Amino acid sequence: MDTQIIQVDEQHIQINLLRQAGEIIKAGGLVAFPTETVYGLGGDALNPDSSRKIYEAKGRPSDNPLIVHICRMEDLPYLVKEIPEAAKKLADAFWPGPLTMIFRKSPAVPTETTGGLATVAVRMPSHKTALSFIREAGGYVAAPSANRSGKPSPTCAKYVEEDMAGRIEMILDGGDVEIGLESTIVDMTEEIPVILRPGYITKEMLEEALGSVREDGTMMSDESGQAPKAPGMKYRHYAPKGSLVIVDGEEARVTAYINEQLERLRREGHRTGVIGTDATIARYRGDVCKSAGSREDENTIAKELYRILREFDDEEVTAIFSESFDTAGIGQAIMNRLLKAAGHHMIHL
Ligand code: AMP
Ligand code: MG
Repeated sequence: MDTQIIQVDEQHIQINLLRQAGEIIKAGGLVAFPTETVYGLGGDALNPDSSRKIYEAKGRPSDNPLIVHICRMEDLPYLVKEIPEAAKKLADAFWPGPLTMIFRKSPAVPTETTGGLATVAVRMPSHKTALSFIREAGGYVAAPSANRSGKPSPTCAKYVEEDMAGRIEMILDGGDVEIGLESTIVDMTEEIPVILRPGYITKEMLEEALGSVREDGTMMSDESGQAPKAPGMKYRHYAPKGSLVIVDGEEARVTAYINEQLERLRREGHRTGVIGTDATIARYRGDVCKSAGSREDENTIAKELYRILREFDDEEVTAIFSESFDTAGIGQAIMNRLLKAAGHHMIHL
């Protein structure tokens, strides 16, 4: 299959191009598109064959449900059994935006789309290209991240092309995404809503809108003994080809420890890498040293993390060390993804 790549601009929506993309979805094909979080791999959410194609293109286990993307609040009731009061509040506060909510599904949603579950995940993204594309595609677009299973989610069209060229009909290239980590997922089927995956919409923000929320016990640890409630969270995600170890502790000790390890590993024949920050990166003596951004603005770190993980693969780095980040605010989402990439390998000094 030839994959058509089309340039789109959020500031100048070319509706004829998005209509063409929408037609592909309506005909049962797949189109990757930009959102504010990461690129999505879209298919018709109401067509079981489209969902099967998404799993195949991603190489993803079919028990891992897809998020259904909508472009208008009026379209939500068709997908769900009921809309709890708390969900209305969260939609008011954060939609369109990087928040996914889990509802009991209506019969309109095929179980192929929900990985066999009786619940459905729904999001209304804020990216203008995404919203117009969803409308042109018929209003219900199932889309997981547009990476091959096991790779970091793509934050620009080049990475979508690397993973999906020849497997899907079209890629809408809207440049770099704004946030860089996947949406926050909140389960609205429980009495007190439960955060299943941390993201740009933080626990503090949800609490402000709702009063109280809980967190899934498996979110930051792999030792809780529970199975994660978002099926996708149980798979080893975002894993770089090299080994990755997170080092936590006082700054000077972390730098010294990592440099010691780098020297040892290089002697053993490794190509070494470091994920540091603007303030520390010059102190490291790895073969490839990358700053994820500034601790003063952790949004920069969220935005760069997946690109950096992919670059270490491209540059064939075999042993990587990363500094650790605060788990307040967006830091919780950063550490959740970093811990998964490291297979929870973290050293406390
Ligand atoms: P992705 O779109 O690639 O970020 O992956 C979608 C994430 O949403 C995965 O981690 C899924 O397990 C999760 N998800 C989707 N639908 C549901 C659902 N009905 N219940 C719980 N988690 C879900
Ligand atoms: Mg994903």
